[in-house]
Amino acid sequence: KKKSGGGDIKSSVRVAVRIRPLLKEEITKQGSDLSCVRIEDSKNGEVPNTILMRDPRQPNELKFTFDAGYEQSSTQEQLFNNEVAPYLESLYQGYNTTVFCYGITGSGKTYTMQGSQSQPGIIYRAAQRLLDLCAQQHSSKLTMSYLEVYNEGVYDLLRENKNIVKELSVVSEGTKIVTKGLTNTPVTSYAGFMQSYTKGLNNRKVAKTKLNSSSSRSHAILTFNVSLRNAEGKFITGKLNLADLAGSEDNRRTGNKGEQLTESTKINMSLMVLRRVVHQLNQKLTPVPYRDSKLTRLLQDSLGGSSQTLMICNVSPLCSHYHETYSALEFSNKSK
Ligand code: ADP
Ligand code: MG
Repeated sequence: KKKSGGGDIKSSVRVAVRIRPLLKEEITKQGSDLSCVRIEDSKNGEVPNTILMRDPRQPNELKFTFDAGYEQSSTQEQLFNNEVAPYLESLYQGYNTTVFCYGITGSGKTYTMQGSQSQPGIIYRAAQRLLDLCAQQHSSKLTMSYLEVYNEGVYDLLRENKNIVKELSVVSEGTKIVTKGLTNTPVTSYAGFMQSYTKGLNNRKVAKTKLNSSSSRSHAILTFNVSLRNAEGKFITGKLNLADLAGSEDNRRTGNKGEQLTESTKINMSLMVLRRVVHQLNQKLTPVPYRDSKLTRLLQDSLGGSSQTLMICNVSPLCSHYHETYSALEFSNKSK
């Protein structure tokens, strides 16, 4: 089995688990040894792939196997270089790639996908790397779009008028999935990228008020599109989807009611469909139920088939999240 990302094209989903560190307030509040998950020590210097989990009330540790495991002190750079960078060059050969962060609210999805200026995550690093790769290719073009999926509706985060929040329709054109009217902005410099991305983040805030949503209850997908003419003069396109998904918490546990419950049910529904899609792809089973949710519909041409998919399973180390963490690890476990 392959131990690092990228390389050969296969339709199964690569799964990397990342455990976030305990936060300062969690250490002072609960004592420092309350992590219920850890990554098994690496053998022969390879990226370790076994996660051990301990229910505080049980004597035995549970073992889960993935493609890679990143412990609490792993860096943004390690994760990007090992897991994401190897996929980027194949965009220029016409392959699509999807990377998504899956986990409960507070598990580190946004930290991993976006991070901060001082701890840049996948989005910032990918933007820079794609600009570099484009500079090496003659006649290549880089564009980006950024959308939000909320309550099964799709909204443009790069829209010109931030106050007009309009639901967009998703259709298939041949083998491609197209979101009608979605803004696709050229990316020619890092500063230009930052300007568009910041606009998208601000639009997301507006949508949050207008739709009464919250970032933990919506999915955000940033897409980089690469296009070029190859040596034979053939027109090639490839895209990279970077998705920061809604929290995977179970609303029976979080006790949501009324309006929030409807919302949660829809979010959980799309995550449930995503789980089924990942399961079908990894077990090489058909049919793959892409059409059962907006999220998987949007990603249909970039999940499975000749596309490459990386799922980062973000994990909170807290014992109080044991059940949610167990459920996330159980679904993505590869040893069964
Ligand atoms: P999510 O998006 O899954 O709800 P966040 O990314 O917002 O979670 O992370 C929750 C908190 O944990 C934030 O304060 C974030 O800065 C911190 N955090 C998450 N992952 C890490 C990490 N690998 N290293 C340091 N801090 C982290
Ligand atoms: Mg988040």
